[in-house]
Amino acid sequence: MLENINEKCAVVGIFGHKEASKLAYFSLHALQHRGQEAAGISSSDGHKLRIIKDRGLVMRVFDGTKLSTLSGSSAIGHTRYSTAGDDSILDAQPVFARYDLGEMAIVHNGNLTNATEIRDALIKKGAIFQTFMDTENLIHLIAKSEKEHLLDRIIDAVNRIEGAFSLVFLSRTKMFAMRDRHGFRPLSLGRLKNGGYVVASETCAFDLIAAEFIRDIEPGELLVFEEGKAPQSIKVFEPTPKRCIFEYVYFSRPDSVVFGQSVYQTRKNMGIELAKIAPIEADIVIPVPDGGVPAAIGYSQASGIPYEVGIMRNHYIGRTFIEPTQEMRDLKVKMKLSPMTEIIKGKVVIVIDDSIVRGTTSRRIVRMLKEAGAKEVHMRVSSPPTTDPCFYGVDTPDKDKLIAANMSVDEICKYIEADSLAYLDEASLLRSVNATEDNYCTACFTGKYII
Ligand code: SF4
Repeated sequence: MLENINEKCAVVGIFGHKEASKLAYFSLHALQHRGQEAAGISSSDGHKLRIIKDRGLVMRVFDGTKLSTLSGSSAIGHTRYSTAGDDSILDAQPVFARYDLGEMAIVHNGNLTNATEIRDALIKKGAIFQTFMDTENLIHLIAKSEKEHLLDRIIDAVNRIEGAFSLVFLSRTKMFAMRDRHGFRPLSLGRLKNGGYVVASETCAFDLIAAEFIRDIEPGELLVFEEGKAPQSIKVFEPTPKRCIFEYVYFSRPDSVVFGQSVYQTRKNMGIELAKIAPIEADIVIPVPDGGVPAAIGYSQASGIPYEVGIMRNHYIGRTFIEPTQEMRDLKVKMKLSPMTEIIKGKVVIVIDDSIVRGTTSRRIVRMLKEAGAKEVHMRVSSPPTTDPCFYGVDTPDKDKLIAANMSVDEICKYIEADSLAYLDEASLLRSVNATEDNYCTACFTGKYII
């Protein structure tokens, strides 16, 4: 798929380590795939919060000098994806504020579905907002709460918001981590080698900093980190899990364990299921890199058709802005993906991708393979048709831009110029991730929104 659907953010928190900001930096590196537009870290030395954030990749935003100014034994960090035209530095996180109890910083992965109502109500009462981020609502709700302690104010504030949120808060002396009652977005807890703690959107961050995975933070659970104490768990909401199934399909890194399962294995299972429900005779199975790789391996193993690397991906081009003409758009895909002509020429090819969003990229891939001499190109997609947009923290095109919302599978097949096209069905997807429809959100495939 490569583009068109983007996770909006990653969050991390480090507590109880003398080089907290450096560990947050390395953790953000591991989570860079969840957002490349901006990065930020806020640290606390027990007396004062410091913050650095800017546009760009983690590596560009921070260097040794900057990190050394972020002193203290606790730090929270964020990487952000933003839609075009909405890339103001003000919208980078952490969001920092001074208020009557002191200083606070917040990072947020998700999307609040009642953000506009809350913002409008706050503005009517005189609140002034600096950004377009729904996360800023939380700052105001906490600052305006009449409760005496920050913990009670956080509980007060999260009771006012709805939607998807994995949050990490930092005060001068404490850190708080919380998931919404449905647990749409992941958030895991790990132990640092020195006995401190880490929370992160994905466990691949733990591997990089040699932290030990303890468990997921539960839907509706708030963890309080305080020096000299084990994290305190508070059940703020009765959990009603609706984990985002798209984390397995596309967002999360294959080396992460998300919602208790290996992402790589679930993707491979999707390929195995796909081979069962959409078999076809062919010479080779190839993935669209990188998302289609585990599913293509699964498809190959289940079907007995050899797996080959038929498309090379160029990882070094970043964003390109040359789009106005069709010719330039085609060139853009060619810059990212190149066919392995010697592998493809004269072959009947099954090409596996994780999803089709607008269909334009798939059409270019099919054309590219045919131009490279493929005899036939059969597209297999390791998720059901993406028919509905996400309102829970993932940036998707509007429904009218989603090809599966507007065309049948046969029409899409013709549009992308493939010889055949088949998708995974919902039941097979749920089987691949050992889930039931009850505990996972599948709204972008089914339109069944819980909120
Ligand atoms: S709508 Fe799709 S992308 Fe959004 S939370 Fe649900 S499954 Fe995930």
